[in-house]
Amino acid sequence: MAGLYLSLASTSWGAVGDRAANVVLFIGDGMGTEHVHAANCFKGEPLCFESFPHFALVDTDSLSGLTDSAAGATAIATGTRVEYWTFGDRSSNQLPSILEYFQGKGKRSGLVTTDYMTAATPAAFATHALDRYDLVQIAGDYLSAIRPNVLLGGGGSAMTPAAASAAGYAVATNVDELAAIDPAASDYLSGQFGGGQMPYEYDGIGDLPHLREMTGVALSVLEREPAGFFLMVEGANIDDAAHGNNLPRLIPETLEFEAAVQVALDWAADRSDTLILVTADHETGGLTVVGDNGAGNEPDVEWSTTGHTRTPVGCWAWGPGSERVDGSMANTNTFHALRDAALLQTFYLGVQVDENGRHTPIWAAAPGDTFRLEYSDGLDPADWQPLGTVTAETDSIFIVDTNDWPEIQRYYRAVALP
Ligand SMILES: [Zn+2]
Repeated sequence: MAGLYLSLASTSWGAVGDRAANVVLFIGDGMGTEHVHAANCFKGEPLCFESFPHFALVDTDSLSGLTDSAAGATAIATGTRVEYWTFGDRSSNQLPSILEYFQGKGKRSGLVTTDYMTAATPAAFATHALDRYDLVQIAGDYLSAIRPNVLLGGGGSAMTPAAASAAGYAVATNVDELAAIDPAASDYLSGQFGGGQMPYEYDGIGDLPHLREMTGVALSVLEREPAGFFLMVEGANIDDAAHGNNLPRLIPETLEFEAAVQVALDWAADRSDTLILVTADHETGGLTVVGDNGAGNEPDVEWSTTGHTRTPVGCWAWGPGSERVDGSMANTNTFHALRDAALLQTFYLGVQVDENGRHTPIWAAAPGDTFRLEYSDGLDPADWQPLGTVTAETDSIFIVDTNDWPEIQRYYRAVALP
């Protein structure tokens, strides 16, 4: 009877499948799908991320309804909706961010923005402050508590070169200093460019780096960790241009944001371990494109507000796990897509069959690891059914499945939960 069981080889335990060792998350602040559409009209062709294989429309609400960058980024960073203007209650580490999950797996992390560094969108990933304007705590959390490897953005606003240097960060304050950074000698890098939010591309940015340049340097530092990394890159000025209903400034900001995505795409092109997501925290301006005037010309547009709206935004996904981005989803699901793509670990199990014909899945685990057990009667196609959740107490797990149908070829897998 035992021979009826076609088990996967008992040596087959171990991780399989496509996981994202690296995640690069792009957030166009305030960037609705019509902002992308307007840039597309001006460019005369789709932006690079518009051809990503997976897309979802994302509901951006906060716990208060309409959102801001703090609650909007917190939904993406933690999978939890919180009140407007806040990061939620993190006083007792109740809301670990995706960045902290990655750190917990021994991976590197980085935050890049054209806003001042302590602004709401990057802060949502690496602070335990409650209030988005508690800049002193945010800066302290960056440098002394959570310590992302890379912090590149506008200067000032509670960040100083002296404090970053004292905390062990290499510091760059202009594009030349950034270009001179040796990634091999800079495990921690703080870029503090100018005295606040960085200027619009349209107005010229002087000796400060473009978003694409910051993205490239961030990758060069983060890629030195073989375990992988999490990187968030924000195009912050898209939001400000949209608040001003300012199309001439909006379009270059959106195209620079696209150029930063292209840097990551070029970096990841030959790899199978990197997930790239492009999304927004909310829409700003109630923008609608009403006429395409061809490449090189601004399209005709209408704006409905100078504030934020509840219009769904896009999420474009490329790489392993990108299929998790699909249809319509809540902003909190962006967090789950990122975490699951990168941190869920699937084991296919070896099976022991005893003299009574009972079969026992077995695999190696680290004590304390928690798994969701599943089985499927066949693999073509697999139909994974839950068997329950278990936590390993020793370095292996034995589960006796009392399946009474020995003629069925049953397969098991365990999905390691982060
Ligand atoms: Zn805004």
